[in-house]
Amino acid sequence: MTIRPILIHPDPRLKKPADPIATFDDALRVLADDMLETMYDAPGIGLAAPQIGVMQRILVMDCVKEEGEEPQPMVLINPRVTWESEARNVYEEGCLSIPDQYAEVERPSEVKVSWQDLSGATQEQAFDGLWATCVQHEIDHLDGKLFIDYLKPLKRQMITRKMQKLKRERARA
Ligand SMILES: [Zn+2]
Repeated sequence: MTIRPILIHPDPRLKKPADPIATFDDALRVLADDMLETMYDAPGIGLAAPQIGVMQRILVMDCVKEEGEEPQPMVLINPRVTWESEARNVYEEGCLSIPDQYAEVERPSEVKVSWQDLSGATQEQAFDGLWATCVQHEIDHLDGKLFIDYLKPLKRQMITRKMQKLKRERARA
């Protein structure tokens, strides 16, 4: 398993829709393992392939945060929301591609998601709480959308400028 570098916003690859996956082979399993390793190392609770520059519709997540609880790694390929609740929830979201920036985002509090697993079999499950927020945030990545796109333009521009500065500093280091 390899920890892959995570792209930092702004980057054109984070704004581009990713391609559907049609081949379920060993290369895909390696990609999923690398993504989980990269997510746990960051540490984060979700990671979508475009965040490591791979323009394919695959995401990983594990929203178990309690110390001592069994990890629950999930790999979702070609995921799509098939149902969303009318009830909405506000969570303070962050993103591995927008380090140290957090903002409240409102989303449906429950969703049903259908996806393919690593063998290509179709799965469907309902998510609520943090899992629901996380899966919607990660599916957004596959459509080239970031959580800051839900914020008012002024706030979004402020965060983008901070990220540009961070990237300049990292490039110099
Ligand atoms: Zn993110």
